[in-house]
Amino acid sequence: MNYSRYLRQKYGETAYRVSIDGGFSCPNRGVDRNLPGCSYCSSFGSRSAYIGETEQDVREQIERNLKVLKSRYDARIFMLYFQAYSSTWAPVRQLKKLYDDSLALGRFRELIVSTRPDCLSDATCRLLASYRRDDFDVWVELGLQSAHEQTLKRINRGHDRDQFEEAFSRLRNHGLKIAVHLIFGLPGEDHGMMMETVRYVASLKPEGIKFHNLHIPSDTAMFRELEAGEMAIPSSAGHVRYLADAIERIPPDTVVMRLTTDTPRQRHIVPGAMLDKTIIYNRLREELLRRGTKQGVFF
Ligand code: SF4
Repeated sequence: MNYSRYLRQKYGETAYRVSIDGGFSCPNRGVDRNLPGCSYCSSFGSRSAYIGETEQDVREQIERNLKVLKSRYDARIFMLYFQAYSSTWAPVRQLKKLYDDSLALGRFRELIVSTRPDCLSDATCRLLASYRRDDFDVWVELGLQSAHEQTLKRINRGHDRDQFEEAFSRLRNHGLKIAVHLIFGLPGEDHGMMMETVRYVASLKPEGIKFHNLHIPSDTAMFRELEAGEMAIPSSAGHVRYLADAIERIPPDTVVMRLTTDTPRQRHIVPGAMLDKTIIYNRLREELLRRGTKQGVFF
């Protein structure tokens, strides 16, 4: 199920994400963001690592984004989205204050947080679940990227598949909606490995899934690997096929929330040609039509 269609069905009109940087860091990067982190993780695009120091900034971001969405799109339905770094990596009391203060700044219909498996204690899941209402969903976007241990090690994810599975179960036990993030084209992975990851994630029946094609910003360890000739230049050529194959293998009702990676042009280095989202969407639709297939046929 396509994400915009899902939202239109749910709200009767287009719903918009108010995406913000809550000032978090990530255990894989450390409090000061000076640890290596995932090998494709860029150091750009975020501000303070300290949640407590950014409340004013968060307010400004929310107010500015709401204003832009209202004036540009006449938007009326909003979802608050903590996007940058690991948006649950803070003590629960601080998280609660940040989420409470932020949600109070608009009439939001959903809270969405993006995070990693090792930032989801039971107390954190309980806090997130406390925001759920019949008319208010809470989504957690959970990074996995690959289900293969050797890949997780190679890209320095800093967690393994068991940790992902534990976090997934905890979220589910708390009734939270889960969107899993995957990357196609990681070093050392072929089509078969990528589809194994897809099948594994599909077996968990997540409510949502985000597919990304590998981008390598210039300030990353992976870019240095590339320069040293230790990995091949990722190609976007096979991405539509990967997407079509993956969509056939996931549950029919899982919401497909993303098909490509969005890296700001100034940070984006490899692959050189950016995939245009609309072109990918259209090519995927054509490919599914050509195959006479649809989401979930091989689930
Ligand atoms: S989990 Fe995200 S923020 Fe943390 S190191 Fe990996 S890519 Fe960077």
